[in-house]
Amino acid sequence: MALGEFSLIDRYFKKKPPAQVIGVGDDAAVLPWANQGSLVVCKDLLIQGRHFFSDVAPDALGHKALAVNLSDLAAMGARPIGCLLGLALPSVDEPWLEKFASGFLALAHAHGSPLVGGDTVATNDGLVISVTALGYLPDAQPGLLRRGACVDDRLWVSGYLGAADLALKILQGNLVDEQGVLPQIRQSLEWPEPRVSLGQRLLGVAHAAIDISDGLVQDLGHLLDQSGVGAVLEIARLPAHPSLAKLSPDMVQQAMLGGGDVYELCFTAPASKDAEVLAIGLALDLPLTCIGYITAERQLMGRYPNGQHRILSQKGFDHFAGDRS
Ligand code: ADP
Ligand code: MG
Repeated sequence: MALGEFSLIDRYFKKKPPAQVIGVGDDAAVLPWANQGSLVVCKDLLIQGRHFFSDVAPDALGHKALAVNLSDLAAMGARPIGCLLGLALPSVDEPWLEKFASGFLALAHAHGSPLVGGDTVATNDGLVISVTALGYLPDAQPGLLRRGACVDDRLWVSGYLGAADLALKILQGNLVDEQGVLPQIRQSLEWPEPRVSLGQRLLGVAHAAIDISDGLVQDLGHLLDQSGVGAVLEIARLPAHPSLAKLSPDMVQQAMLGGGDVYELCFTAPASKDAEVLAIGLALDLPLTCIGYITAERQLMGRYPNGQHRILSQKGFDHFAGDRS
C-alpha cells in the first residue's frame, strides 16, 4: 500500500535535529539564537486544483497563501517578522497579479510580516504558490509545542468550526445549498484569519497547541500522539459556526470533527488557567471554547449528548490517501 502523507514524512524527512532545535513534526521549526530568542520558520505549498479553484478571487488567494503560514506561526506562539513568496506562474496576467499581491500584502502589513524575498518562475502546468513565514519567539520561550499537553489539562478551541468544510463541499458541487448559507460561510474558507495575537498571548498559559488545517480529529490526534496522552471531546460543546444553525446537526457535527481549512487554534491549558484563557478571549473579542480535557488513556474519545462514548478516529486530509486527495 502507498505511504500516507505523515508516514512518508516520518520515514524520509523526520531526522533527529540538533539539541535545542524543534524540527520536523510541529507546526513550525524553532531555531534558537544564542540567548536572543528563536527564529521560527514554516512553509506551506498551495497547488491549483488541489488547494484552490482556478477561478478563486485572486485577492482571496493571496490572503490565504500567507494566512495558512501565519496560522502555523500562531500555533507556535511566534510573532511574525517577515515572509518569502515563491510563485510558479502558467502566464503573466497583470490584473490577476495586482489583486493577488494586494490580498497577500494587506495581510502581511496587518501582521508586521514584510515580504522580503522569494522566487518567480514560469510553469507549463497549473499555478503553484509556496510561502515561507518567519517568526520570532522571545528569549527563554520554548514556544507552544504539540508535545506539551498534560493529563487533566482542559482542551480549548478558538473561533467556530464547520463553515469552511461545508463551503468547500457546496463549491465543489458535493452539497446542495438548500438553506442559502454559502454567502455567510465562504469567507471562512477563502479569507481565514490566522490567530496570531491569540498564539502569542497563550505563551506561558497553554501547555500545547496546534492549528487545525486538516480537521479537528486529525490535528488534535497529532497533538495527543506527540504528548503521549488522550482526550475526551465533549461533542455538544463544539462551537458550530452560527450560520450553520439551520443545517442538519449530523452534517454539521461531521464538518466540525473532520473538516479541514479551519485555521483555528486547538490548545490545552491547566484548569488553573481557565480565567486567564477566558480573559484572553474577551480581550481579543474571539470565542474560546472549552471542548474537553486530556486523559492518560491514549485515545480520543467523543462524549455525545445522550451519554454515549465513541472513539474518534475519523481521518482528516491526507494528500496521499488515495480516496481523498
Ligand atoms: P502543518 O499542517 O502544520 O503545515 P503538516 O502536517 O503539513 O504541518 O506537516 C507535518 C510536519 O512535517 C511539519 O513539521 C512540517 O514542517 C514537516 N514536513 C512536511 N513535509 C516535509 C518535507 N518534505 N521535509 C521536511 N519536513 C516536512
Ligand atoms: Mg499547522
